[in-house]
Amino acid sequence: MFERTMARRPKEKRADFVEKDNVIIHGVDISGHWNRMHSPREITSYDLSHLEQVTAVPGAESMGWCYQCAKCIGVCPVDNVGNYGPRKLFRLLQTGYDLINSPELWECTTCANCLRVCPKQVDMIKIMPALRAKAVMDGTAPNELQDMFKNASEYGNPMGESPRKRFRWTKDLPEDVAVKDLSKTPEEVDVLWFVGDYYAFHARGNDAAKAMARVFNRLGVNFGTLGNEEWTDGDSQRLAGEPGLFEMMAEHNIEQFSKQTFGKIVTSGPHALNALKNEYPRLGGQYNVEHYTQFLNHHLADLKKLLKNPFPHKVTFHDPCYLGRHNGEYDAPRALLGAVPGLKLNEMYRCKEQGYCCGGGGGGMWLDGFMADHVNMRLSENRVREAVSTGAEVLAVCCPYEVSRFEDAVKSSGNEGKLRVMDIIEILDQSMGG
Ligand code: SF4
Ligand code: SF4
Repeated sequence: MFERTMARRPKEKRADFVEKDNVIIHGVDISGHWNRMHSPREITSYDLSHLEQVTAVPGAESMGWCYQCAKCIGVCPVDNVGNYGPRKLFRLLQTGYDLINSPELWECTTCANCLRVCPKQVDMIKIMPALRAKAVMDGTAPNELQDMFKNASEYGNPMGESPRKRFRWTKDLPEDVAVKDLSKTPEEVDVLWFVGDYYAFHARGNDAAKAMARVFNRLGVNFGTLGNEEWTDGDSQRLAGEPGLFEMMAEHNIEQFSKQTFGKIVTSGPHALNALKNEYPRLGGQYNVEHYTQFLNHHLADLKKLLKNPFPHKVTFHDPCYLGRHNGEYDAPRALLGAVPGLKLNEMYRCKEQGYCCGGGGGGMWLDGFMADHVNMRLSENRVREAVSTGAEVLAVCCPYEVSRFEDAVKSSGNEGKLRVMDIIEILDQSMGG
């Protein structure tokens, strides 16, 4: 037997092994002649310098663990509209591709769907920020991202808005809808509401912010905000490769929080939730923090009494990656929608753990122009088509990036008039009387 012959050979003579032309064991031909069509067989003679360069970056080590099973490809939202995914990136690196200086470095949205299915824990959520930080240092980040970083650094928000205008959205609220600016008049509150950039500065975000203010007031929540002293949460900057900028934003917010007395922080957005809950603690900011859907779900009994007006529409819900896969919350938004009289929820096929990314995470919010050159359809357009296919009239969201993002995609995908995009808080507010 072949194995016995091997066993009898002294170890030091192993180097003398030669491939045999024919090896038959138990009648089975294992000679592997089908692999010898070309000679020599190329297996490890690639230029691995770029793969080694990547796996040497702290945080990006797991890129080298991929064993090419391809489970990640079927779930990658970018591959769904292009040609992407960890398996493909690994293979490119293995064949000498310079990932750190390539467009592929910026296409991942850090949605975590590949990590969910990867048997080897290849972790794009750590790999991408680590490699991008290197590219940002080298000055090779796309221009849109460099503008966004500059805005955050100069104004405390990625949109380049004057920080003095952050609290302006409250100006035309009626007197009975009070929103406290604790930075001007500190007082003890139960809830410190972290409003976020899109709620504060974007016109459609303003609508949701006002709806939140009305809902909190009707519920009798004792809440306040940081007013103009709130800065962006920093998570998008961190994931896009600017850890120093993230720390600058976080340290400012932590300092502002330290001046206030509050029970918990409630965020409008999942990205702020992720930053405050999972990233601020390593900088000394440890808080009881909830997304607004979680907070309201904990007050569901009181909320239900206020939801008087029917909302007689078919609704589908888009799970934000950073509320769902990153922070494990799938039930709270659905519980709120389920409490609205007349509302019928039609789930999309790709929902909950399998939710499809809108394309806005990991810095993607600022890369639509860049992505247009690398994918055949925006991720948000792909998602809108799926939402329309459920027969829904309303696409409900609970991430401040998504209202404007999906409204654009409704228009660009030719679905204007077929689908309205609403923040869940707007639906609740409407059911309470608007
Ligand atoms: S699922 Fe993981 S191990 Fe499999 S191909 Fe993708 S990255 Fe590699
Ligand atoms: S994190 Fe999401 S976008 Fe990035 S490679 Fe994985 S599945 Fe694709």
